[in-house]
Amino acid sequence: MTLRIAGGRVYDPANGVAGEVRDVCLSDGKVVEEVPTDAPRIDARGMVVMPGGVDIHAHIAGPKVNAARRLSPEEHRGDVVERSAIMRSGTGGMVPSTFVTGYRYALLGYTTVVEAATPPLAARHVLAELRDTPMIDAAFLVLLGNNVALFDLIRRDPARVRDAIAWWLEATGGYGVKLVNPGGVERWKRGEGNVSSLDDEVVGVTPRQVIEAIAGAVHELELPHPTHVHCNNLGVAGNWRTTLDTLHTMEGRRAHLAHLQFHAYGGKPGGRPRSRAPELAEYLGAHPEFSADVGQVMFGDAMTMTADAPVSERLRDITGGKWVNADTEVETGCGIVPFTYREKNYVHALQWGIGLELFLLSPDPWRLVLSTDHPNGGSFLSYPRLIRLLMDRDFRNEQLRRANKKAIQRTVLLDDLDREYTLEEIAIVTRAGPARLLGLRDKGHLGAGADADVTLYDDRADREEMFATPRYVIKGGRVVVRDGELVEALAGDLLRVGVPHDPDIEDVLRDRFEERYTVQFDSYPVTEPWLLEPARRVAAGSPA
Ligand SMILES: [Zn+2]
Repeated sequence: MTLRIAGGRVYDPANGVAGEVRDVCLSDGKVVEEVPTDAPRIDARGMVVMPGGVDIHAHIAGPKVNAARRLSPEEHRGDVVERSAIMRSGTGGMVPSTFVTGYRYALLGYTTVVEAATPPLAARHVLAELRDTPMIDAAFLVLLGNNVALFDLIRRDPARVRDAIAWWLEATGGYGVKLVNPGGVERWKRGEGNVSSLDDEVVGVTPRQVIEAIAGAVHELELPHPTHVHCNNLGVAGNWRTTLDTLHTMEGRRAHLAHLQFHAYGGKPGGRPRSRAPELAEYLGAHPEFSADVGQVMFGDAMTMTADAPVSERLRDITGGKWVNADTEVETGCGIVPFTYREKNYVHALQWGIGLELFLLSPDPWRLVLSTDHPNGGSFLSYPRLIRLLMDRDFRNEQLRRANKKAIQRTVLLDDLDREYTLEEIAIVTRAGPARLLGLRDKGHLGAGADADVTLYDDRADREEMFATPRYVIKGGRVVVRDGELVEALAGDLLRVGVPHDPDIEDVLRDRFEERYTVQFDSYPVTEPWLLEPARRVAAGSPA
């Protein structure tokens, strides 16, 4: 299994390669220095060569994704994928079936995806769906920000939080820790209303205590990916202060903020939002311990799905349409609302503009990476259009003219913000950056020892077309896409963290489970080999 990708223009920012013409050699699933001269080759002259794409934040598996599929049968009828010699049948739309999710990521040149919000109780479901999602290596983040049993520990026995988190990751097969509206979801579930500040109380703790305890524990455990935080007050005018307060609370410890765009609003609560993207971009630039993905909104249809159930309730009030709410007993909430972002709508155009501001003002592409919070801000299939918005000023200006004028005037996008992302910067925000932030050393680069995940694009002036239709996609050294067609379907790997815990924590948690859960402690951990194996472990304690 050897291959030489010959004569392409290579963008491998992790190794300081920015558009040099050179060969990339693959052998036995890895990038290597050399292969024999008579090895099979792809003539990549005129093509752009990048590592396979890495999506740091998307929603592709688990109960909420499944509920969203059930909520949109009309999309299934409109986008049927027929069975072929290579592909299983399935459906597309905003929330594709498992198979189609894998195929379409691969057809886009993506080879690694992180499912960003898994209730631990749903780990089996998520694992089963990820095993059913071909083509991509996948990891998932475990929701711990509204877990009442963990709250008990934070209140009574904070020194044990670290071992508890390590146990939860081991028990679920997860990769990292996710907080979603910490404390706020549980408070809302109790009928006490969402939290508005980090010092509001729920079950004897405050969001600030939850954030401090968990971010501190994750930092001490040296997990490869830091705490992944969806801040409180998502979507609320004025929430940029909560975002800054959250960052202040975690200062000095690494953290990643999910979909920063949704947390960058000025204005008064209940009033019209304004943009605070410049302030947040500046703050982020000055704090190397923090990173974020943007959560860009794209005009058109979306499907909002979030563990932040109170946000969904608000969206339901706005749309007056379909809504699902589903609590996961003492762990988290979940809400789903189909949504359409309209370019003439003030709020939607402002959201769109804030996402672009964050990208264009970001001083460090390694720490502000691309996402649409699929499918919340738009489908992952819209990434090529987003890339064009970043790379092509004329195209962007044309789109700016079509969007709600008042909203765009409230941004700095018309103030000579003429930055155009380079191919190198695109390679950073779509692969090298996310891989580094995730601590995935074998991903996002093309140095010797990296996974042989490679995407080849024709170098076209229309960047949307270019990134929508890679010429070749290579996964683990095998050509899976050729000339825009899937030519082989492969199973991806589960990526999970390896982090030891003190076994004594299990007795502590057993008591908490007796009191709080309906599930027996001994039945809770995932043990089924077909769900857990094969997997690749990424060890804690060795930061990338
Ligand atoms: Zn998300």
